[in-house]
Amino acid sequence: MSVPFVSQPTCPPVNPARGSLWMGLGLLVAQLLWPAEALAADKVRLQLRWLHQFQFAGYYMALEKGFYRQAGLDVDILPGGPQAAKPIEALLAGEVDFAIANSGLVIARMQGQPVVALAAIMQRSPVVWIVRADSDIYAPQDLAGKRVMLLDPPESAELRLTLLREGLDLDRLQVSPPSFDPQDLVDGRTDAYNGYTANEPFWLQQRQIDYRLINPHEYGVNFYNDVLATREALLDERPEQVEAFVRASLRGWQYALDNLEESVQLIHRRYAPGKSLEHLRFEAQELKKLIMPELVQLGHMNPGRWQTIADSYVELGMAKDTSNLGGFVYRGQAHTDHRLLYQVVGGATLALLLLGAVALRFAHLTKRLRLEIAARRQAEQELRNSNLKLEHLASTDRLTGLWTRLRLEEVAQNEIKRAERYDLPLCLIFFDIDRFKAINDQHGHEVGDQVLREVAHRIKAQLRDSDCLCRWGGEEFIILMPHADLEHAVVMAEKLRILVAGNPVAGNPVAGAPVTGQIVVTASFGVAQWQPGQNLREWVQCADQALYLAKQSGRNRIECYAPPIPQPLP
Ligand code: GH3
Ligand code: MG
Ligand code: MG
Repeated sequence: MSVPFVSQPTCPPVNPARGSLWMGLGLLVAQLLWPAEALAADKVRLQLRWLHQFQFAGYYMALEKGFYRQAGLDVDILPGGPQAAKPIEALLAGEVDFAIANSGLVIARMQGQPVVALAAIMQRSPVVWIVRADSDIYAPQDLAGKRVMLLDPPESAELRLTLLREGLDLDRLQVSPPSFDPQDLVDGRTDAYNGYTANEPFWLQQRQIDYRLINPHEYGVNFYNDVLATREALLDERPEQVEAFVRASLRGWQYALDNLEESVQLIHRRYAPGKSLEHLRFEAQELKKLIMPELVQLGHMNPGRWQTIADSYVELGMAKDTSNLGGFVYRGQAHTDHRLLYQVVGGATLALLLLGAVALRFAHLTKRLRLEIAARRQAEQELRNSNLKLEHLASTDRLTGLWTRLRLEEVAQNEIKRAERYDLPLCLIFFDIDRFKAINDQHGHEVGDQVLREVAHRIKAQLRDSDCLCRWGGEEFIILMPHADLEHAVVMAEKLRILVAGNPVAGNPVAGAPVTGQIVVTASFGVAQWQPGQNLREWVQCADQALYLAKQSGRNRIECYAPPIPQPLP
């Protein structure tokens, strides 16, 4: 996959001969007398996006554990909140060097602001609606006519996109701004409270109030949250400092996640005495689920996912187009850290000049350090590359660009859970191209491939965003249709059958090559509705049985799976 908008700063080569001999000697003497980090401590400011809480644990721990100091940084952490500066504005105004933003950072970039995303801490967003368990709201559609709290865009973009995807117009809701007081939900002054998984649920649990979450993630909306950002100019002027800050911050996050209780205690003592220890512990557990350190490398950003997020903002009308994204995603420095290298080499040279014998040892240490740095950088780069590759390979079929069977299985498991919990209908269409082997035999394998691509493309264009189309294998495909009953799915299958059969495929295997003929393609369809208690394998088998029947009955037709009627006991 190409990564069109990554940012990789170049570091100007250091010329050791540039400074005067005296300056060099002065530096070397100083290096012997003081540790390197104390010498180079640069003052930088980090603007948080809300009040002190576990949400920013990694930065506190990087400060408290001395990771910033060791990286030559003297960091000021500024809390956010209603009275504080807005992080992106403060960053662009040059008041701070780094800021924590949400996915809305990409909007600023699309509007031409020179912001750069350095690391995404939360791989999933905590933004949800919270509704009372005794309400009749189970899914976004149920919000129609209800009193619903909604933060201003882009803070609520995930929720707005969920509504859009589910086909629910904002006009059909009684929207009000958030009150930031969950008591309004308890007292019935609102039906849906715009909150965070890591925050209000704790408050409600404490009061033994049952609630439900309407989580955009369950509807295919997948945004990053708490993104570490800087501005382009800083990255150009001081690339090593930016790199050092990112590394030390991620180190802080690793420490915080490995030592939750210690971090909670420290945050309570030093930063957020107003938040109880239990509340901070709850927040820590919930946020860890969103950071997913066991699955994803800390801070990982996928340019493809950023593109999807940017497209979503365009879809919501919050930005015009995504052409400005060049250089938005930071990919770390690909070169050696010359400053560190220079310090170490300089130290070794002085040792050579002044101490003779010690020089050999210094040179040896320097070499080892350089090798270690290079090896670590290479390993990290490889890990990053393989993360990206794995993510992409596992979920996308190379020939058709559709989802793979693996990805569909993941989504289907979630949909089954949702259908089970909320008693929703769920259907599956299994279809297979008829006599495909004959197409390969007559026209060649390349044309066969083109038929597969064309059929996949046509069918995808007919489906809702919430439907999932996957290439199950060979010339077999599956469509998963949430919220669709058998009748609905059969109507859709019939539409797709006509679409395939009614439009022959042009048989030119290579784009631009002369057309070799029109190929009539048909497919057979099996439809099955999910039955309570069924697992995915059993359900797919039912659809497969129906498909088999369609093949037996002459092909180019649709059959439904009919569940056996229970026999009365004798
Ligand atoms: P039926 O109507 O009963 O499904 O007959 P069929 O020929 O379509 O089914 P069969 O399972 O006998 O043959 C499927 C063929 O699909 C065999 C295999 O070579 C071909 N095939 C599988 N994957 C690909 C692919 O990626 N590209 C091409 N061109 N052919 C493929
Ligand atoms: Mg076939
Ligand atoms: Mg087949």
